[in-house]
Amino acid sequence: MITLTMLGTSALLPIPGRALASVFLECGGHGILFDCGEGTQSAARAAGVSLMRMDLLALTHYHGDHIFGIPGLLQTMHSMNRTKPLILTGPAGLEAQMRPILQLAGSLSFDLSLMPMPEAGRFLSESLEGARLTAFPTEHRVPSQGYCFELERKGRFQPDKADALGIPRKLWGQLQKGETVVCEGQTYSPSQVMGEKRKGLRVVFSGDTTCCKSLTEAAKGSDLLILEGTYGDSADAQLATERGHMTFAMAAETAKAAGARKLWLTHFSQRLEEPDSYLPFAAEIFPETVVCKDGMQMTLSFDPDAEKSGQGCTKE
Ligand SMILES: [Zn+2]
Ligand SMILES: [Zn+2]
Repeated sequence: MITLTMLGTSALLPIPGRALASVFLECGGHGILFDCGEGTQSAARAAGVSLMRMDLLALTHYHGDHIFGIPGLLQTMHSMNRTKPLILTGPAGLEAQMRPILQLAGSLSFDLSLMPMPEAGRFLSESLEGARLTAFPTEHRVPSQGYCFELERKGRFQPDKADALGIPRKLWGQLQKGETVVCEGQTYSPSQVMGEKRKGLRVVFSGDTTCCKSLTEAAKGSDLLILEGTYGDSADAQLATERGHMTFAMAAETAKAAGARKLWLTHFSQRLEEPDSYLPFAAEIFPETVVCKDGMQMTLSFDPDAEKSGQGCTKE
């Protein structure tokens, strides 16, 4: 299962009820925070999400509306005596951009490592079996990248094969978990009894970008595609392109071209007093569009019946 919580949906300026850019992904007791704009901490609290769980902070680019929440978050983790190491990744310029931010945060109770992609993705795969995090280039006004998180799904266990090979039933459970087993001098491996891998889950997050080929490629077959929609009205398409952003319709076209299953829109200009009212611009192109609100949550599961979405549990 993968749970996504939209923490901040505002672009450039925080406004009441709309924190700056940030999305939290949880899977198997691990967490990745994508961007960390101002207001991320209080938005996480309101949604009932603990950022202490996070292993990785993945930045899409270094504009202030995506990173100014970092020093405060690090200080909070320090004051709560965090000991779990934290990896910070981002596009080109990571060391130079993060140095002043880390200086502001001061000394920390945990190890923080700056690690570019794809190394940071490999680090995550080592601690979270079957998970894969990759980055792809996007087109903004500064170096920028989006992220793709995939969770693989094993093939089905084939009892007829296990019986034909004479594998004792007491070993079946271990083989299903992916373990190789030795019993009475015989070695049995999962590949002998597991079918072909099945379609897993794929979540793609754009950060700030205008439409580009690498984004559409990365978004292909995504179960949840989280794109920026800085501008609502299609009349702003030229402005959006010039500034390295997208309108709702541009994002919807990307989702449609990529064959995504669901589209979440975020990163709304403050000019969009009610982002929801611009939904038709996207929905007529890609009906499975959701105009996000802070705290919106979705749990993706291999079993579609277990999938759910709604607002995060708001705490008093
Ligand atoms: Zn931004
Ligand atoms: Zn930006």
